[in-house]
Amino acid sequence: MYNAVICRYHEIATKGNNRSHFERTMLENLRRILRVQLPDLRYRKIRGRIWMEFADRRDFTVEELKLVQKELQLRALGIENFSPAIVTEPDMEAIESRLKAAAAELLVDLIEQANAEKRTLRFRFRARRSDKNFPLKSQEIEIKLTSLLGGIYGRENLKLDLNDTADLTIGVEVREELSILWLETFAAPGGLPVSSNDRALALLSGGIDSPVACYLTMKRGSPVDYIGFHSEPYTPPETVEKVQGIADYLNTFQQSGRLYMINLVEMQKLIRDNCNPRLRTVLYRRLMFRIAEKIARRRKIKALLTGESLGQVASQTLENMNTIDRAVDMLVLRPLCGQDKLETIRIAEKIGTFELSKVQVPDSCTVFAPDNPATRVTVAEAEKEESKIPGYWEMIETLAEQALNGDKA
Ligand code: ATP
Ligand code: MG
Repeated sequence: MYNAVICRYHEIATKGNNRSHFERTMLENLRRILRVQLPDLRYRKIRGRIWMEFADRRDFTVEELKLVQKELQLRALGIENFSPAIVTEPDMEAIESRLKAAAAELLVDLIEQANAEKRTLRFRFRARRSDKNFPLKSQEIEIKLTSLLGGIYGRENLKLDLNDTADLTIGVEVREELSILWLETFAAPGGLPVSSNDRALALLSGGIDSPVACYLTMKRGSPVDYIGFHSEPYTPPETVEKVQGIADYLNTFQQSGRLYMINLVEMQKLIRDNCNPRLRTVLYRRLMFRIAEKIARRRKIKALLTGESLGQVASQTLENMNTIDRAVDMLVLRPLCGQDKLETIRIAEKIGTFELSKVQVPDSCTVFAPDNPATRVTVAEAEKEESKIPGYWEMIETLAEQALNGDKA
């Protein structure tokens, strides 16, 4: 019954001069999301909305619609909501006949459901007429269609409700060349289209937090490359495989980003052998930041990205976060900073990374980790310990260089 899907956005609409850049990016993203499964779908940008329809304007099958729905709800970053829609000729007879058919498919179930709950289904029409020569005005269209449905289903089953309390809002739009009808609206992720902003380099662990931080950053428009640290042979191959799996999955939300894997173990040994054990956690993290910064600069990436959340673990006290931050001269995005763990877990479950993250494998940070890490390390203390590490800066350079050249770490 549906031969189109209409996608609406919210924030893009406020973008003024940049708007067409955002819209083009959005269109490309939708194409990328559905290209493989529905190659003959066409995309059009019409008055602040994006339409999808098949080249020959045929109806979507139930399976096709389900697929589109699932993909848009999960991956259409930048889309606020969408409606499966019926596009037909711009005349009342056509609109009425398509409405009757659609109502027969959808309304009967909804009415039954409402009756079972001992209430009456409340509905309303929202009509818009952009063709001013159309014989009926918007309100007249609404009245005519309301009485059409009322006549078929009866007042005891359908109650007009012009407020937001309506269970069902049926949209009608009449334009010069066509008219559109929709009965259902589904929420999409919202935000901004990924790739409408500059790239960030994410420090990606196998944990729950950093994949969510990546997703939230993509949802603000920035595509993401990844850098993961391991400590083979002190961490098993599964540690690397897990991060690769998560990066692959995150890449289904954007045009593929690149993953750099780096073995930290030699540096960790030097830190173990030369520095105060209580500072190891902070020293590891400063090291990770510095290697990431080197790679970012070479790739002309302007920000790092982490899954840090204030106060969550020893390395995330305000003092330690500050000391870690001072290791680099680059913007560090921390989208989870003010987030509770449970909120983060909820997002992880919704976007599908939780299943991947919850598999237990050892993390690079836990190699030689102290029993009671210092929670208040000053910049001066960290620098003093780092000055005891032979070849510290050269090693950072070498590890970054190896990763950039794609050497197996
Ligand atoms: P996550 O769930 O993302 O691992 P976490 O709550 O375990 O976070 P930490 O272990 O302190 O917190 O890590 C803080 C951040 O540092 C991570 O979110 C990630 O961005 C980065 N990080 C930690 N370990 C690694 C690693 N092995 N490789 C790359 N980045 C890492
Ligand atoms: Mg972790």
